[in-house]
Amino acid sequence: MKRHKTREISIGGVGIGGDNPVRVQSMTNTDTRDVPATLKQVRALADAGCEIVRLAVPDDAAAEALPAIKAESPVPLVADIHFDHRLALSALDAGIDALRINPGNIGGPDKVDAVVTAAKLRGAPIRIGVNGGSLDKTLLKKHGGPTPAAMVESALEHVALLEERDFFDTKISLKSSSVLNTVEAYRLLAEKVDYPLHIGITEAGTLVRGAVKSSVGLGILLWEGLGDTMRVSLTHDPVDEAGVAWEILRSLDLRHRGPEIISCPTCGRTEIDLIGLAEKVEHALRGVEEVFTVAVMGCVVNGPGEAREADIGIAGGRGLGIIFRKGDVIRKVKGNENLLPEFLKEIEAFLNERRNG
Ligand code: SF4
Repeated sequence: MKRHKTREISIGGVGIGGDNPVRVQSMTNTDTRDVPATLKQVRALADAGCEIVRLAVPDDAAAEALPAIKAESPVPLVADIHFDHRLALSALDAGIDALRINPGNIGGPDKVDAVVTAAKLRGAPIRIGVNGGSLDKTLLKKHGGPTPAAMVESALEHVALLEERDFFDTKISLKSSSVLNTVEAYRLLAEKVDYPLHIGITEAGTLVRGAVKSSVGLGILLWEGLGDTMRVSLTHDPVDEAGVAWEILRSLDLRHRGPEIISCPTCGRTEIDLIGLAEKVEHALRGVEEVFTVAVMGCVVNGPGEAREADIGIAGGRGLGIIFRKGDVIRKVKGNENLLPEFLKEIEAFLNERRNG
């Protein structure tokens, strides 16, 4: 996989583009004016592996909340602003690390001048975000709809407004709820610019649909070497967006974070509540950053063999569980209710052993 070469920008010290790894980001869905709730979610996103978090700044009150959020945030923050250049200026004054704003939509050259000057002064990059659903009428007419070419042309118009002002600290997103249009749009854009690409499938849907659409779309792009930072959009808790993003990166062997949990699909031999056990193990290991493989298997006969490559695993039978490492049985646990706690103890022991060399 050869990555498309992009210039490097930095959002609050987190490098994007160039030789940096593909960065994972997400967006809060709390009311930004509610500082405690927003900070709680920013921290949860950071714990789930988000390296950058974006917040909506829809009004003055939200902008006024930014200094308090920024002061406590463990990760760089991006202010998402539509149309109102004053909010962009307030966000920059509040020390925000980057803006998401489309310079062509903020009311004219003077306003673009003001935002660009302030962003330069603060070293804050700007993300241009073109959404197929909100292209202007002229472009829609010219291209016969929100086509990939229309999205690219729109992005380049916004880019030109920044370049005219000697501003190159830019990244670009082109989002459409159509996977194929999104992929095509990024391919076209990558032929024309070397700005870092922020990739995502917008309005992807609820957990399963959204995860599938995002995995297919982002998977194709990343496999083609396109994408410097990614956001999985789900109609769901944003913490799960980070989880899906990391699974996509892990599947492509681009980045690894936390345990990989493999579990069997269950079959007529399964004699325990394997689905419940696998979900509880996954939940218990949330936030663990170390990379290792955990297997949760449904029968004692085939389980260890099927999961031979796992660092540690459990296979459950009727009233009995066996714990194994790399396919070798190391312990037997009696009683279904003991499987989860005893397995978690063994995982902890495994990690401690590994940490101590
Ligand atoms: Fe069935 Fe056992 Fe394989 Fe699970 S591990 S799918 S229970 S044979």
